[in-house]
Amino acid sequence: MANKWVYLFSEGDASMRNLLGGKGANLAEMTKIIGADVVPQGFTITTEACTQYYEDGRKINDEIQAQINEYIVKMEEITGKKFGDLENPLLVSVRSGARASMPGMMDTILNLGLNEDVVNTMAEKSGNPRWAWDCYRRFIQMYSDVVMEVGKKYFEELIDEMKEKKGVTQDVDLTAEDLKELANQFKAEYKDKIGEDFPTDPKVQLMGAIQAVFRSWDNPRANVYRRDNDIPYSWGTAVNVQSMAFGNMGENCGTGVAFTRDPSTGEKKLMGEFLTNAQGEDVVAGVRTPMPIAQMEEKFPAAFAKFQEICARLENHYRDMQDMEFTVENEKLYMLQTRNGKRTAQAALKIACDLVDEGMRTEEEAVAMIDPRNLDTLLHPQFDAKALKAATPMGKGLGASPGAACGKVVFTADDAVAWAERGEKVVLVRLETSPEDITGMKAAQGILTVRGGMTSHAAVVARGMGTCCVSGCGEINMDEENKKFTLAGQTFTEGSEISIDGTTGNIYAGIIPTVDAVIAGEFERIMNWADKFRTLKVRTNADTPADARKARELGAEGIGLCRTEHMFFEEDRIAAFREMICADTAEEREVALEKILPYQQGDFEGLFEALEGHPVTIRFLDPPLHEFVPTEEADIKKLADAQGKSVEDIKAIITSLHEFNPMMGHRGLRLAVTYPEIAKMQTKAVIRAAINVQKAHADWKVVPEIMIPLSCDTKELKYVRDIVIATANEEISTAGAELHYEVGTMMEIPRACLTADEIAQNADFFCFGTNDLTQMTYGFSRDDAGKFLEAYYDTKIFENDPFARLDQSGVGKLMEMAIKLGKPANENLHVGICGEHGGDPTSVEFCHKIGLDYVSCSPFRVPIARLAAAQAAINNAHK
Ligand code: PEP
Ligand code: MG
Repeated sequence: MANKWVYLFSEGDASMRNLLGGKGANLAEMTKIIGADVVPQGFTITTEACTQYYEDGRKINDEIQAQINEYIVKMEEITGKKFGDLENPLLVSVRSGARASMPGMMDTILNLGLNEDVVNTMAEKSGNPRWAWDCYRRFIQMYSDVVMEVGKKYFEELIDEMKEKKGVTQDVDLTAEDLKELANQFKAEYKDKIGEDFPTDPKVQLMGAIQAVFRSWDNPRANVYRRDNDIPYSWGTAVNVQSMAFGNMGENCGTGVAFTRDPSTGEKKLMGEFLTNAQGEDVVAGVRTPMPIAQMEEKFPAAFAKFQEICARLENHYRDMQDMEFTVENEKLYMLQTRNGKRTAQAALKIACDLVDEGMRTEEEAVAMIDPRNLDTLLHPQFDAKALKAATPMGKGLGASPGAACGKVVFTADDAVAWAERGEKVVLVRLETSPEDITGMKAAQGILTVRGGMTSHAAVVARGMGTCCVSGCGEINMDEENKKFTLAGQTFTEGSEISIDGTTGNIYAGIIPTVDAVIAGEFERIMNWADKFRTLKVRTNADTPADARKARELGAEGIGLCRTEHMFFEEDRIAAFREMICADTAEEREVALEKILPYQQGDFEGLFEALEGHPVTIRFLDPPLHEFVPTEEADIKKLADAQGKSVEDIKAIITSLHEFNPMMGHRGLRLAVTYPEIAKMQTKAVIRAAINVQKAHADWKVVPEIMIPLSCDTKELKYVRDIVIATANEEISTAGAELHYEVGTMMEIPRACLTADEIAQNADFFCFGTNDLTQMTYGFSRDDAGKFLEAYYDTKIFENDPFARLDQSGVGKLMEMAIKLGKPANENLHVGICGEHGGDPTSVEFCHKIGLDYVSCSPFRVPIARLAAAQAAINNAHK
């Protein structure tokens, strides 16, 4: 049989998500649970058809078109309506639906199937010409925008002109005649822009719309969203064609969006918004500010009661908070979609805990439900409670996405990006946001909108991103064109400072200071459950006792990387460090090193204290030397004086330190090979610090792990290791102490991985430095790749930044090889990762699978890694 590209809703179910997309699978499942009379029926064109469309050079091939036409006939039979029919016309919505929900990223078209003849008969037969013409003008508008990419703004301008001409402020106040005139204006606009008449044949319209949805899978905002959310391009989107239910037929109709629990806080209560005499996009686009769902009960008691009953059924069935779209047509309820609702991190934690307490989910399932990337928002600073109390809000909107944001006001997405790029913190203030604003929303600390409710684009997208958002502050008097607004009598222009609270919705003038977040309540509960399931340990990358303590609070079980070169940025230290690198004899270097030793020892003592006997890995110096040489004339003079040299001598040394490719230059253990006294000094500092802290805390077990960076050859490693061991043993015996220590290496050069069996004979542990390993495996400079990677995304050569998300097939293969070669050669070898990937959830899962002992990441990513490690253990146990 030929491929099956199309499924009726009645042919699918929830298990077919990969093929039918989330929306299609849920429409099928919902048809099963609550019946075809409540779910307007239709069909789903599969995600495979989308992939095929791209394989065929962005064409819907004949076989797929034939099946779509076949299913139109089936749909006509099921609904008893017909495309283009003057008696009983079939109108449909066309919506995208990928495997993973991507709210607002792709396109939707409503009221497809209309042409002038159909509109006239609909107007006549319904006795409601206003409705018929409203549908038509919406359809032309959406079709022109989505399918032909004419651009919304022309149509919006025409609507605004019409409203002005008629002296009304709301769309709903326009009459049938006005709307008819608008429809004609829209069609003229279409012809002007496209050079053809607006299509009248519903089948032609449908094929165009399906094609547009497939195409929208590849639009820039969808591509950015996918990259941020680890959704592969190869998945494609399905297209759902559903018979229309009309919320815009008059006052006994309406449309709404609702959640079974509050998506901001997680509280168990029906939350949602409703608009009478409207269609779905009116609620989501924030064009009119909707009423709370509770008011629907007064207007449509029967439909509301039925809706409540369906909500309970759907939530019990999916055992998760549901986000639903519905329409009331002549007081009868129709369910248009349901899905597991997007939620804030805070709500996600509360809902997961509540579902466990309600007996709906196990602890393991609760842990698996939380997207680790979302936790990031909870770890962001919150407003300082005292400062917040002292501040007076100047306005209030809806607390649409929690968190604290302060910064300078900008009015466009482009400005948000540009200002953020030059290091400014900005709050993006808009009348309402639209999908084109996504990059600006990402660049901003927070988003403030004048229009739109809790389900508006701004609110949904900001929650998804974890960005603080206050929406629908109608008190703002906005002048977007002149980049200013007024609120509470104050005028704010571009660059003015404001603070917004995404939890309460409060808006403040000026900057309110923020404080670090803590893990407590439900967050703590979930983290404790996660720790029960994970087998991978989580350490932190920390160079200071303060960072180390923060990481411990967040659950780190050790330090996986202390970059010792970072300990020299302070003024008096950098002077000594410069003396060391600008020394030209071993004696001079030793004098400088003597100055550095006490600093280092003190630093290490601080770290051992902060870690209270948990492992501390100290990496020996790996500085790109050019970052440390003085560039200012005054600093050069100071150095010259300190070393009794002339300025010219120092300048000559600086010139001699110049390297064409410092990343592949004199760094890592190469420094210890040329200047063994550096490794000796660092060993002394580590061992002395460990002995002192061990003495002070007999109940701790201080085991320093000395890590040699950048080795590529076992003899090279042995040379440095022997120096370290000889120095350490001498220190220990001189002190008359007992101390166990380890000497391992970073694995960050492909050759080290390829010869890991040899390297393992001279290492107690391996730690993958995947920043350098990625750099050297790809041959991409980690400092410069950003300049050209964008082109790789645009051309789909790459879907992700390999420096952010571990390349499992290349870099990952080297890691696997290193473990397979290394462990048999040294059975006590323990293995970790400390590159940036150690805090990225998908990379953490990979590390679990290939048998690493720990991941190490920056302090604020520790909870993310803990949760990702637990999920990796849960998911892989069940396979
Ligand atoms: C690495 O290369 O992955 C690493 C952790 O070291 P650094 O980033 O300091 O080079
Ligand atoms: Mg490195």
